[in-house]
Amino acid sequence: MASKSNEQIVMLPFMAHGHLIPFIALARQIYQATGFRISFASTPLNIQYLTSTFKSSSDEPENDYITLLELPFCSADNGLPPNTENTENLSLDSIGKLCSASQSLRAPFHSLVSDISAKQGHPPLCIISDVFFGWASEVANSLGTVNVTFSTGGAYGTLAYSSLWLNLPHRGRSDSDEFHLPGFPDRCRFHITQLHHFLRNADGTDSWSKFFQSQISFSMQSAGWLCNTVEEFEPAGLEWLRNFLKLPVWAIGPLLPPTVLKKDYSSLSVVASGISTRRAGKRLEISVEKCMEWLESHSPASVLYISFGSQNSINPSQMMELAIGLEESAKPFIWVIRPPVGFEQKCEFRAEWLPEGFEERMEKRKQGLLVSNWAPQLEILSHESTGAFLSHCGWNSVLESLSQAVPIIGWPLAAEQAYNSKMLVEEMGVSVELTRWLHNSMDWKEVKKVIEMVMDKNGKGGDMRSKALAIKDQLRAAVRDEGEDKGSSVRALDDFIKTLQSKRQMSSIS
Ligand code: UDP
Repeated sequence: MASKSNEQIVMLPFMAHGHLIPFIALARQIYQATGFRISFASTPLNIQYLTSTFKSSSDEPENDYITLLELPFCSADNGLPPNTENTENLSLDSIGKLCSASQSLRAPFHSLVSDISAKQGHPPLCIISDVFFGWASEVANSLGTVNVTFSTGGAYGTLAYSSLWLNLPHRGRSDSDEFHLPGFPDRCRFHITQLHHFLRNADGTDSWSKFFQSQISFSMQSAGWLCNTVEEFEPAGLEWLRNFLKLPVWAIGPLLPPTVLKKDYSSLSVVASGISTRRAGKRLEISVEKCMEWLESHSPASVLYISFGSQNSINPSQMMELAIGLEESAKPFIWVIRPPVGFEQKCEFRAEWLPEGFEERMEKRKQGLLVSNWAPQLEILSHESTGAFLSHCGWNSVLESLSQAVPIIGWPLAAEQAYNSKMLVEEMGVSVELTRWLHNSMDWKEVKKVIEMVMDKNGKGGDMRSKALAIKDQLRAAVRDEGEDKGSSVRALDDFIKTLQSKRQMSSIS
């Protein structure tokens, strides 16, 4: 690790677990590579969450490189329920309100960076802000530093999301449901059904368009973008994103704990490390040991893991069909389950949401393990018994799955997930899309068919597995750091730091 330095970087993540997790990993990575101090700015409740994540980590070399700084925020003043500072448990409407309300952080963030500059006698080396906080570029410029945007998604997904919001190319089309998306070559046609309904209905005057168009445009004025991906894994996506942004893009992923990227990462070391708990700071509803024990009792690559990320769920009829399909497939599974959409996410789970006697039968036959709300995902995916992942295709989940060579069954639900899914199916061949969104009806026969196909060791399933294996090697090679032998992501992070330092030198000369 580099020795401690007086340099400081200020990070500004969006208030969602899927954003906080890679930001935390990025902070650790930068510190390990440079010794720079990192300040994390967020709202009080997210700071509480981050505090529990950063403290008590036995594998954390030091915790004092990070300073957690509060930005005042009152959810009730912004039309949100009290104590709402994170997308967790929020409806789409409320997430929209949280996005709009997040712009009120600009003035306190300006004061915070200004205070840091006054204390240090010079501005921080840079601000690294979430793509949802494009306004940070103006804050950085006004305080004599630079802003770098961190897109917590992949290159392909980030490009699709950005270009769709900025161009709304599907508006006013009557000729066809398929369209060309600026930034992509003509062969990558997009389909209207790949757009979430709030994007499909957007016309540039609605609050979603206003928020995303302004934040993405401001982010395009930053000094460059960091992307949680790998050069060899997404060469085309990165090339298209660079052409679109006309900015440097550093691919510095996969931002995953180094232990899970080790060659010999085994189920036993997983149990000992308990990585997910510390990484996400969330309360597990099941012990890592119990999960591992359950997985140990199944044969290699035989278990389907099902999770829809940190905040999503599916609708009641989809949940019922999924359960029937799982039972009919007779394949073992671990399902991270939350109340279906339309019900309070924190309420007690009701037996009527599943087929009668389902949980008992699954337990008795040792076919299924239901985990409510939050499971040790990294440990599950890293276990050799896990053979496929039914996922909403959130980018962290995608990287976590592929870094363990686990192929994916896609079911995108929000954000840029449908474009991640499209890329995994069309460009990489490591996923099959089961369905998308909440409004589509689902048939248990289709669930059974897709599960059987993907879990099959031969045929399409076998082919997906060998492609996932090749990607696992690419992802792991990118973070190799052995003397002169550095992977592409390590070199990109070095280059990013050198670029910042030379910008600092230039500004002190002028
Ligand atoms: N996660 C977890 N346990 C769960 C659900 C999610 O550890 O039961 C973690 C998962 O490992 C990933 C993150 O939460 O790191 C979810 O991020 P992703 O980008 O996949 O989806 P999002 O939550 O942003 O929709």
